[in-house]
Amino acid sequence: MKSLWRDADAEAMVVRYADDGIGRDLALRVYTTRLLGGEPRLVLHGGGNTSVKTIAPDPMGGEAEVMCVKGSGWDMASIEPAGLPAVRLMPLRELRAFETLSDEEMVNLQRLNLLDSSAPNPSVETLLHAFLPHKFVDHTHATAVLAVTDQPDGEERCAALYGDRMALVPYIMPGFPLAKAVAAIHAENPDIEGLVLLKHGVFTMGESAEQAYERMIEQVSRAEDYIARNRTAKPVPAALPERLMSAAEVAPVLRGLTAIDDGDGEFRKFVLAFRDGERVRAYVDGADLHRYARAGVVTPDHTIRTKNTPLIVPPADADMADAFRAGAKAAIDDYVAAYQAYFERNNAMAASPKTALDPMPRVVLVPGLGLFGLGASAKAATVAADVAENAIEVIGQAEAIGRFASITEAEMFAVEYWSLEQAKLGTAAEPPLARQIVVVTGGASGIGAATAAAFAAEGAEVAIFDRDAEGARATAQRVGGLGIACDVTDASQVQAAFDRVCERYGGVDIVVSNAGAAWQGRIGEVDDAVLRASFELNFFAHQSVAKAAVRVMRIQGTGGVLLFNASKQALNPGADFGPYGLPKAATLALARQYAIDYGADGIRANAVNADRVRTGLYADGVLEQRAAARGLSVADYLAGANLLRREVTVADVAAAFVSLAKARKTTGAVHTVDGGNIAAAPR
Ligand code: ZN
Repeated sequence: MKSLWRDADAEAMVVRYADDGIGRDLALRVYTTRLLGGEPRLVLHGGGNTSVKTIAPDPMGGEAEVMCVKGSGWDMASIEPAGLPAVRLMPLRELRAFETLSDEEMVNLQRLNLLDSSAPNPSVETLLHAFLPHKFVDHTHATAVLAVTDQPDGEERCAALYGDRMALVPYIMPGFPLAKAVAAIHAENPDIEGLVLLKHGVFTMGESAEQAYERMIEQVSRAEDYIARNRTAKPVPAALPERLMSAAEVAPVLRGLTAIDDGDGEFRKFVLAFRDGERVRAYVDGADLHRYARAGVVTPDHTIRTKNTPLIVPPADADMADAFRAGAKAAIDDYVAAYQAYFERNNAMAASPKTALDPMPRVVLVPGLGLFGLGASAKAATVAADVAENAIEVIGQAEAIGRFASITEAEMFAVEYWSLEQAKLGTAAEPPLARQIVVVTGGASGIGAATAAAFAAEGAEVAIFDRDAEGARATAQRVGGLGIACDVTDASQVQAAFDRVCERYGGVDIVVSNAGAAWQGRIGEVDDAVLRASFELNFFAHQSVAKAAVRVMRIQGTGGVLLFNASKQALNPGADFGPYGLPKAATLALARQYAIDYGADGIRANAVNADRVRTGLYADGVLEQRAAARGLSVADYLAGANLLRREVTVADVAAAFVSLAKARKTTGAVHTVDGGNIAAAPR
């Protein structure tokens, strides 16, 4: 591993933060914390922390001796000084005299000694940092170090590798007892440069930011060299079926089977994140997968992200899709039963009774295909997949030099059901449409873009289809979704777009079939080509989109929502608007047909009937001309035509789609958003 320390960068950081009144120590602490946090082979999703002991202005007057330590919720790769809250050092050090200290008492005492009462909670490893005398302390869960310590004889291997430059600490759960143990070991070995926490990670210390960082790089590099020198075993691949299902085909099966049935047609579903790099494939295709993948976590805090073991399903033979579903279901049933038994077994021995977490896996391994991370959001699924990939790298290296070994089941339970984690349960309510995967067609602009934003604001994961690839990407970037170039009049493009959504998020729950355009012409004289072109976009495209969506929804088996953008033309035709109104009338009938044919599958189908919305449907200048002809502004012209005399906006239409998506007992309905147009009222 190469050192990224550059004197010029370090000094630039000192100068930059000096303007904000940040001292040299903290600026350099920010610099190397970012260097460590930017390297996934050292630190991943909160799996590390750093500190510096320094002097800070005391709000009580004068100066205070403090330790700035990583605060919870901050990412080391992008940390700012505010992410390293200052805690008074002496009170922390005095805690070493305590016999015991519960996690809650520890958190309280740490907060009591913050200089800024609004700062985030200092790291759970704060006392460990405080009890060491060094100015700078760095902690990582380095991949290579874990591969050496996560062995049945990991202690002997580490002792041989590190000699007396690093002390070894037996596995102890993070918190007060670990901090005391480390302090005692350091007291007996005052000249060490760092500590290897067996089956957990590595600490290095120094009198300067550079020294602590360089020691980390050196000690991790030594582990990397050790692995390179001792690599003997190569993974043996298992026999796999010749033709395998794709990730897009497998994901909705898994998503449906892992959904938790909350009753009354409601399911708590997971969002999925797929990975299939070379390393992932070598791992999931291995003949010994069931042994090494189920041996436990590579470092304790992975337990919170991935549970103690992943789910392994059978290979997905493309010629036996039903057998795959049955095999996957049996594997999930076994996983749930095993998880519940694990909870009961360990809860019975716990000092205080715990609340069981849901029994579903957070990582699913599919031989011949790859892995899926599962989470309550795309972000959480991504974190689970990242952590799983990191575990694969550690276990792959551990198996190459020996045999991977983890902490015990009871030790994993203690971390997964740690009191501070349990305290967070149920306190953070999920957004209303969390866990829902939404497709919006014609999402680059107008009603589609507003609808994508409205669903994203309710916590849904949103995929935007549009013929305008740039526009789809722009909307996706704005709302934090996935933009896909797709001409919805081409059924093969529609299928490919749904496949991408399944691969990216795991399936589909809600579809807003919105793409459309207006054609005009007197019906007795209009060119057939115009009418057919309008039918392709304003009817057949809705059918292709709904058909592809329903296929995925039925594989998931958790219901679904189809929403169509119908026009008032469907109910209240206008002169010379036949080419637009006829296919829209057919689309309204289409919505009702889906409501009838798929109601028993829990799939609802509804339409929104909007009118006179300022959108791209109107050719350039048309609205302005019409308004000018009446001596009105565009807004007054649009508002003047309806009963409420208020302009209908794209946001109003978007809100109607969101409302229908939530209307759990409504199907076959037309929802009017037109400010009141009695001639277009359904009757
Ligand atoms: Zn740690």
